[in-house]
Amino acid sequence: MAFDVVIVGGGIMGSSAAYHLLATDPTLSVAVLERDPTYRFASTALTDGNVRIQFNLEENIRISRYTMQVLETFADEMETPAFRPEPAPRHEGNLFLVDEAGREAAMSGLATQRSLGCRVEWLDADAIAAAFPALTTAGLVGGTFGPDDGRVDANAMLRGYRLKAISLGAEYLALEATGIITASGRVTGVTTPTDTIGAGAVLVAAGAWTPGLLTPLGIDLPVIPVMRTVYVVGSTVATAGLPSWFLPSGAYALPEGARTWAMAWSRDTDPIGFDFTPAGHHRFEDVLWPELADHVPAFDALRVESSWAGLYDVNTLDGNAIVGEWPGIAGLHVAVGFSGHGFQQGPAVGRYLAEEIRGASHALDLSRFGPQRVIDGVPVLEHAGRII
Ligand SMILES: Cc1cc2nc3c(=O)[nH]c(=O)nc-3n(C[C@H](O)[C@H](O)[C@H](O)COP(=O)(O)OP(=O)(O)OC[C@H]3O[C@@H](n4cnc5c(N)ncnc54)[C@H](O)[C@@H]3O)c2cc1C
Repeated sequence: MAFDVVIVGGGIMGSSAAYHLLATDPTLSVAVLERDPTYRFASTALTDGNVRIQFNLEENIRISRYTMQVLETFADEMETPAFRPEPAPRHEGNLFLVDEAGREAAMSGLATQRSLGCRVEWLDADAIAAAFPALTTAGLVGGTFGPDDGRVDANAMLRGYRLKAISLGAEYLALEATGIITASGRVTGVTTPTDTIGAGAVLVAAGAWTPGLLTPLGIDLPVIPVMRTVYVVGSTVATAGLPSWFLPSGAYALPEGARTWAMAWSRDTDPIGFDFTPAGHHRFEDVLWPELADHVPAFDALRVESSWAGLYDVNTLDGNAIVGEWPGIAGLHVAVGFSGHGFQQGPAVGRYLAEEIRGASHALDLSRFGPQRVIDGVPVLEHAGRII
């Protein structure tokens, strides 16, 4: 068995790449090896689905802006006779609260976003208090509000790309890739537990499992699997008309239902490893709750209704994506290291990698996120500190 392109991992990255390959060159043979078609542990299935323009790096802003454009016509473009995907974007807005320590980074991000024509506002503490009376502004200098930011049904997007790719000819194989084969400096295929599959090009988009597949090739990725727990919380605070709130610490609350919020906080102490058991309620009560109730006093009365855990593939070098062909191994492409913001990058990264594999010019240059910086150990930082 052999294909022009074999993609390992059928999450948002692998499926978007498969779609973009076949949408632009229907003559290609493309296989996607996805060992778990239920996506039980895939980060794409466990994401918060937040899409935000509010990044500091121009590339990250352009990536999200492209996703927002894609969302406008996604259902029409991805519709197949079997399925019409409705990602149902909700533009409730993201409000990033800023303290003195974060002012410079916030202002710099705001300037870049505005220079690119994005709609993002600076609200000083008085304006925040007037617009969102539920918040106390003690210790804050203000906040940035992106009215176009919001949340999306991630599974609709994943199914949309997957089923459209299949309708264009992609073969999804419920198989585990156990290794990548190379010869004379180029990739030649992948192994499965029972077989070898030949490939002209291989894209490894296996999420947090990607480093393990590449280590035998001598590729040492600075990417670790970090477990993040999200709590679904009932409260007295009605979500209607309220944005998602992100505190300077990185703790956040996202509107989920009428009075229900999704709450989480990425901490350095989060467990590393392939574990999907959510952290206990004590972590919510001892750590997250006091932090949120300090800023939103009405969160004093809360009830955790459920929780889930998924993996961030955290790039410990700089917290940004690593996308592109691996130097020295022709035809081997990677998509990894999304560090908690990869769902919204699926459309642009999938398109970029499809262009790279086909040798086509790029609609959006993402070479700054290429693997060479990892080999050189030169970080491309969004801004110091927070990874959400
Ligand atoms: C709790 C949480 C909240 C998040 N919130 C956001 C957010 O609000 N906004 C945002 O943009 N991002 C968010 N993210 C990050 C985002 O979900 C990920 O960056 C993104 O989904 C990564 O997609 P992927 O396709 O690279 O990986 P995955 O979705 O993990 O897909 C990888 C696939 O590869 C398969 N696979 C692995 N190894 C093999 C193998 N050897 N052979 C065959 N198949 C294999 C797996 O089964 C899996 O389906 C969040 C993540 C988590 C965990």
